[in-house]
Amino acid sequence: MRSAGAFCLGMPEPTGPVKIKVLGSGTSVGIPTIGCACSVCTSTDPRDNRLRPSILVSCGGVNVLIDTTPDLRQQALREQLTHIEAVLYTHAHADHILGLDDIRPFNYRRKDPIPIYGSAETIDALRRSFPYIFDVKRSESSVPRIEAHVFDSGPVSIQGLDFYPVRLAHGSGVSYGFRFGKAAYLTDHSDIPEESLPLLEGLEVLFLDALRHKPHPTHSTVERSLQWVERLKPARAYFTHICHDLGHERTESQLPAHVRLAYDGLEIIMESPE
Ligand SMILES: [Zn+2]
Ligand SMILES: [Zn+2]
Ligand SMILES: [Zn+2]
Repeated sequence: MRSAGAFCLGMPEPTGPVKIKVLGSGTSVGIPTIGCACSVCTSTDPRDNRLRPSILVSCGGVNVLIDTTPDLRQQALREQLTHIEAVLYTHAHADHILGLDDIRPFNYRRKDPIPIYGSAETIDALRRSFPYIFDVKRSESSVPRIEAHVFDSGPVSIQGLDFYPVRLAHGSGVSYGFRFGKAAYLTDHSDIPEESLPLLEGLEVLFLDALRHKPHPTHSTVERSLQWVERLKPARAYFTHICHDLGHERTESQLPAHVRLAYDGLEIIMESPE
């Protein structure tokens, strides 16, 4: 692995701090959940409103979107997002891909197609889910213009920003997290395989899946992710992909100070990614 300090090097060279913006911190159905009147779904704390899970990573004017959720339009409007340089996919579950059509307005503002990156399995699933996007025949109406790339274990370099895929177990399936600089974003994991652990050393910021307290076949829990924090020892950890079992304030009051729940709109700035 190239040194994490290479994050802001390359051609062209993005410079300056790395900014992580949480676009959504909720589980697949979003919070509030349709038809639910529980205390979290009806909470007036804005941090209990959770759109589907995604982050935006920005460095030197380069915007990299991780996943295109069904809430992408709302997330982009909220954050006044005007351009994206690339999309990275963690896996092809509906809550992570269904907003792909919403990248069209970003296409209007640039000449080239937008590069998207995923595992072979993810890109195949995108082809099946969005045949009209991959169909080479010209369409009368506007369709997203993308250029699909398959990643393997090596880093995905986007205008000098290196993202290392981190293989994760997601129930019986696979999902990928990404390490960039001294940060890593891991959503949708039930386990982190041993061979992925070296990529998660020396982190300043680590995002982890923490659906709820009760065990789930495809997701981590608060307790399990706290064990990962103990083992991996990031300076700070943020839990995401949160369901309505966890009220923000109450849950945070039970966590160590360096572990927080992510919330929609949370911004983390890493002044020195090296
Ligand atoms: Zn998910
Ligand atoms: Zn609820
Ligand atoms: Zn998933």
